[in-house]
Amino acid sequence: MFITYMSDKIRIILKSGKDQSLRRYHPWVFSGAIKKIYGSPSEGDLVEVFSNKDEFLGSGHYAHGTIAVRIISFEPVDDLNQIVQQRISAAFEYRATLGLVDHTEINVYRLINAEGDGLPGLIMDYYNGTVVSQFHSVGMFREKAAITDGLKDTFGQRLTGIYDKSASTLPEWKGVKAINGYIFQGKSENCVIEYGNKFIVDWKEGQKTGFYIDQRENRKLLGTLSSGRSVLNLFGYTGGFSVYALRGGAKFVHTVDSSAGAIKLAIQNIKMNFNEPVPHKAFVEDVSSFLHNTKDQYDLVIADPPAFAKHQNVLANALQGYKRLNTRLFEIVNPGGIVITFSCSQVVSRENFRKSVFTAAANAGRKVRIMYQLSQPPDHPVSIYHPEGEYLKGLVVYVE
Ligand code: SAH
Repeated sequence: MFITYMSDKIRIILKSGKDQSLRRYHPWVFSGAIKKIYGSPSEGDLVEVFSNKDEFLGSGHYAHGTIAVRIISFEPVDDLNQIVQQRISAAFEYRATLGLVDHTEINVYRLINAEGDGLPGLIMDYYNGTVVSQFHSVGMFREKAAITDGLKDTFGQRLTGIYDKSASTLPEWKGVKAINGYIFQGKSENCVIEYGNKFIVDWKEGQKTGFYIDQRENRKLLGTLSSGRSVLNLFGYTGGFSVYALRGGAKFVHTVDSSAGAIKLAIQNIKMNFNEPVPHKAFVEDVSSFLHNTKDQYDLVIADPPAFAKHQNVLANALQGYKRLNTRLFEIVNPGGIVITFSCSQVVSRENFRKSVFTAAANAGRKVRIMYQLSQPPDHPVSIYHPEGEYLKGLVVYVE
């Protein structure tokens, strides 16, 4: 007998052939793939997705956008709160496996990396007891209470605060509004340590959740390459790479960022890490103008710009931007020098980024060898079924 799966949830039927990606566990349903919707889902509703032949494919949150459904489970969902809490606990266990929980020299890590942790629309970072959240979907935002309970259960005494910072990340939807503030507050400590280096994190005023945790392993590597070198840290934010370079014995470090607030913290972070004066100079300046005006040459240059392309339609411009920036880097690096260059644009592939750097090297007429190919660390996991989650790519190159 043929049994059709029935439930009280809104049913979304896909066009013929559009079920393939879901059968391979890709967690997004694009609006163009939908044939019919039974009912009129509101933003953030839990819906069920079926093939053209009425076969159940998955359950997820509905949104009025290009990505119409973000799948949470490829099985019917009875109790979403329970699933959310299980995933928070699993995410914590995974960080424990990585050695990040109760590490003596690190107390800052990403706890929830959206699709990479089975919780699309949610980013959570752990800062020495305080969890800072950013919601990117109304569906996940509605799970806030379950998420808070899950965090309290999982972390116990370790949790001293939860700060939600979703005012700028939550898509606008009538009646749903995020206000930045503490959901739960105990004693919050905003000084974190990362491989023994100390950083003040300003999650209220700073960028994203406050700190670019995704560069941890790359900062560590940079430290090992810095000894005796003159270092230029472009797009330096609160001085992450600069602290590691100074710790690694750099001859001097110049940090450039257009944000005065970031540079103020960078100076403070450097002061806090070293008891004596260190050879560091900070510049509140646009990187293009700094690179245009500087007459200096450097032995090591780092460039970690913000995403040049947020959408596929500006990809060509972004690649042009990476080419231009990197050409200038190859012009100002000394012979025997090192360039560490990044792209955090999701739509720029590893291959495309490498081609931009290749063209830049050729334009500058330098002989360049790849030393390391960099990525995001394991607390920013990528689901193998969701390659879009891999956003950070970097190259460390040796320039003759
Ligand atoms: N490498 C940093 C993170 C960099 S984030 C770390 O490890 O913490 C990107 C930084 O680029 C932000 O601090 C932003 O203020 C800065 N920025 C963006 N556009 C800029 C521009 N045109 N010139 C200078 N800085 C810029």
